[in-house]
Amino acid sequence: MNEETLAQVRADILGSELKNMYPSVNNIVPGEGSNKAEIMFVGEAPGAQEDQEGKPFVGRAGKFLNEMLATIGLDREDVYITNIVKCRPPENRDPTDEEKDLWYPFLERQVRAIKPLVIATLGRHSMGHFIPGVKISQVHGSPKRGPGIWSDRQIYLPLYHPAAALYNGGQRQTLIDDFSQIPELIKKIKSEDIYAEL
Ligand code: URA
Repeated sequence: MNEETLAQVRADILGSELKNMYPSVNNIVPGEGSNKAEIMFVGEAPGAQEDQEGKPFVGRAGKFLNEMLATIGLDREDVYITNIVKCRPPENRDPTDEEKDLWYPFLERQVRAIKPLVIATLGRHSMGHFIPGVKISQVHGSPKRGPGIWSDRQIYLPLYHPAAALYNGGQRQTLIDDFSQIPELIKKIKSEDIYAEL
C-alpha cells in the first residue's frame, strides 16, 4: 500500500467536519513545517492569532518557540509544528478529552507521514495522549522510548508549554534548558546510543 503524504493528511484535516463543533472558528490549523522533519512539536490547540492566520504557534508563545529553535540552530522550516486539536476552542478553554480523542487520528497520520525521530510534546495535553499517567513536573526533559506510532525506536520528549513558561520564570529557564538538549538527543538517536540508555 502506498504511504499517505503529509499533503493528503492536510487536505483531509482542512475538509474535516470536526470544524462544525466550533461555530466561531475562522481557520482550521493543520500544522506546518518540513515533511522530512526529524523533530515534531505538538501543542494543545490554536489560540486567537493562530485561528486568524491558520498557522500554529504564531502568537507570543510561537515567538518564544521560534527563539528557542534558533538557539539550537533550527528554524520553523526545519521542524514540523502542530497541535493535538486543530481548531481553537471557544474562549481559549482547555481542549476536552473528547475533542482530543476526535482529533488524534489526524495527528497520528501526520506522524506516519513525517516519521519524526522525536515527538516533542508541548504541555500536558499533548503529553497525556502519548505518555499517559505521568506528571509533567516530573518527566519534562526526559526522553522516553515508544510505544511508537511509526517505529518503536521513536522517542518522545515531554516539554513544558511555551505559553505557560512565558509567564513563569522558573519554568521558562527549565524549558530553555530542556530545549538545549535536543541536538544531543538527535545525535544519540542517529548513532543508536540512546537505545542503550532507554
Ligand atoms: N498554543 C498552542 O498550544 N498551540 C498553538 O498553536 C498556539 C498556542
